[in-house]
Amino acid sequence: MQYTVPHYYKKFHCLAKDCPATCCAGWQIQIDPASLRRYALAKGPLGSRLKNEIVWSEKRFRQYGGRCAFLNEDNLCDLYLEGGGEKAFCRTCRTYPRHIEEFEGLREISLSLSCPAAAELILGCREPVRFLHAENPRKNETYPEFDFLLFTKLADARSLMIDILQNREHSIKVRMAAVLSLAHDLQERIDRNALFDADSLFERYSSPRLWTWFSDRLRLLGKKAAKSGQNTRRDETLGSLFVILNQMEVLQPDWKAYLRESRAALWEAEAASPEADPDLQVQEDSFREIFTDITAEQLMIYFIFTYFCGAVYSRNAYGKMKFSFAGTVLIRELARARFLLSLKKSAADGANRTPVQKIPGECPAESPEKCPVLLTDAACRYAREVEHSDFNKYKMEKLLGNETKFSLENLFSLL
Ligand code: SF4
Repeated sequence: MQYTVPHYYKKFHCLAKDCPATCCAGWQIQIDPASLRRYALAKGPLGSRLKNEIVWSEKRFRQYGGRCAFLNEDNLCDLYLEGGGEKAFCRTCRTYPRHIEEFEGLREISLSLSCPAAAELILGCREPVRFLHAENPRKNETYPEFDFLLFTKLADARSLMIDILQNREHSIKVRMAAVLSLAHDLQERIDRNALFDADSLFERYSSPRLWTWFSDRLRLLGKKAAKSGQNTRRDETLGSLFVILNQMEVLQPDWKAYLRESRAALWEAEAASPEADPDLQVQEDSFREIFTDITAEQLMIYFIFTYFCGAVYSRNAYGKMKFSFAGTVLIRELARARFLLSLKKSAADGANRTPVQKIPGECPAESPEKCPVLLTDAACRYAREVEHSDFNKYKMEKLLGNETKFSLENLFSLL
């Protein structure tokens, strides 16, 4: 069995009682069969508590006010404290925030963006992500239906996408447009069972001409938008992405309100004209110091590494890419909304600075090793809602398949 992890994987440390968003509240914790059997046999006071605090018919821990029954007032886990540490955990608690994707003979393990400590590692990483490999020859398995040819092409495409995304000589807009388009073209070959043609596609996307071609294409689109005086295509596509978020199963009770408030802040900013408010460009420049090209690169790679090769089961490589692209854009926009709201609040509070000045402690330029709080918060919230519900992931991928709303050009307009 082979294992792949991102290089920052081992740096992860749980924040425990200092965590701003404990993983033991806000969602149901399902218990695996082996742990359930162990809990059923537990003796003494902890055994009695387990008997009472598990909903046995649903194989999950009971919750009070949205918090796990074992999460104490100090935000620490009583099961961990009284049960002898990590060995008392069920598989979900032992694994989180690690996310495991399973392929024949391969486990790809990432850290989930929904955990603030993991988000800090992912978004705070300035260097290009590397992937580390290990092997355990004693563990082996076979998947009878596994499509090895497709998996190999997906893995090759993903390596190329990561190379493109990490080429910092070019703007992130061009890099994102190129990988989106690569997935689009690969899907076309998957659909017509022409995987033999994938290598020539990869060659084309490895050529230096790639950069001028996508730069020109984006420039042309930008010109068209400028000519019409407004970026309707962008506004409509972004609106459609938010509509998808609105159609999802809700996991955290405050998610809808958070979404409403964020959308309203973005709408207000969209409606303002740059002539009427000259601060807008300065605000945008300040936001770009928070959500940098490197942030977008790390997010795209996080999503692509985690999900892209899962297309071996669904044969929907373009859907996985659209999911990654949409996640990156939506996290950017949620962070932008929080940025705008914080400017508004400091202006309303009469803070001794103009709205376009930096917010102390929230700008990476002031604390280069730390990620801005509003950014990690937006990423964690998004990941908790979307990535922790199979229904939501499936629905988002399906709705993004609408080629009228989410065509390549429409998605390019979001860059
Ligand atoms: S969300 Fe992450 S940092 Fe917070 S308690 Fe859970 S594992 Fe620890």
